[in-house]
Amino acid sequence: MPELPEVETIKRGMAAALLGKSISNMRVNRYDLRIPIPQDFAKRLMGKTITKLERRGKYIIMHMGADIVAILHMGMSGRINIFPVGIEYAAQKHDHVVFNMDDGTCFAYEDPRRFGMLYLADKDWRKAKRFAFMGVEPLDDWSGADLFESLKNKKASIKSALLDQRVVAGLGNIYVCEALFRAYINPTRRSNSITKEEAGKLVKHVRDILEESIKSGGSTLKDYKHTDGSLGYFQHGFAVYDRAGKSCPNKDCASNILRIVQAGRSTFYCSSCQK
Ligand SMILES: [Zn+2]
Repeated sequence: MPELPEVETIKRGMAAALLGKSISNMRVNRYDLRIPIPQDFAKRLMGKTITKLERRGKYIIMHMGADIVAILHMGMSGRINIFPVGIEYAAQKHDHVVFNMDDGTCFAYEDPRRFGMLYLADKDWRKAKRFAFMGVEPLDDWSGADLFESLKNKKASIKSALLDQRVVAGLGNIYVCEALFRAYINPTRRSNSITKEEAGKLVKHVRDILEESIKSGGSTLKDYKHTDGSLGYFQHGFAVYDRAGKSCPNKDCASNILRIVQAGRSTFYCSSCQK
């Protein structure tokens, strides 16, 4: 499933290829995504210019002209395929929507499993339920003091708190496991036991990991031919994630990585290094 760094990478790829261009033609092949595409989708977007692209959590917000936004979520298997001027559109079996831009660029939303969403909203899109309660963007203004504040009255584990979208937006299981390892914090600790200093370390490591992942995703996107949602996971491998039974990457540690289940999700950590 595309995570925050992959979605950010897709957004950047789309921005480079599509900003300032207008839709001259489009085709909806299939309307029945997780939220059905509205029947008047094409009619409302025809001729509109893509003026701005932003990301909120795992959603891409495409500003179309002054008053409409198209909101895109990749679901489990969604991807955006971009065909720059001079490269012919190659239809894929699960291209649900195909956009032709006025300069000859073409892009398609492909989603074999159809858990994605593509729907229209207006300038007040942030007021919708799914955005109104979403926590801070980890790459924006987010400090250790902010995190400490949101943890200090919580009894849930720090692992669960970091996955809670109301605390911080868009973090997935991999990034949380890796950040807790880098900060040497045991994932089973109660959120309200995390000190200000530890919260500061966690924020730093979460941001570092996301930036590293965005960088590795970005490097695979040079020609934008395939803005591929499946790329961009750390290409250098994980320290703890999916490494149960393997030795801890810290040279002076003799322990193996453990796997436990917290709130139905696997947690990987080193019980010697993470206190
Ligand atoms: Zn260790």
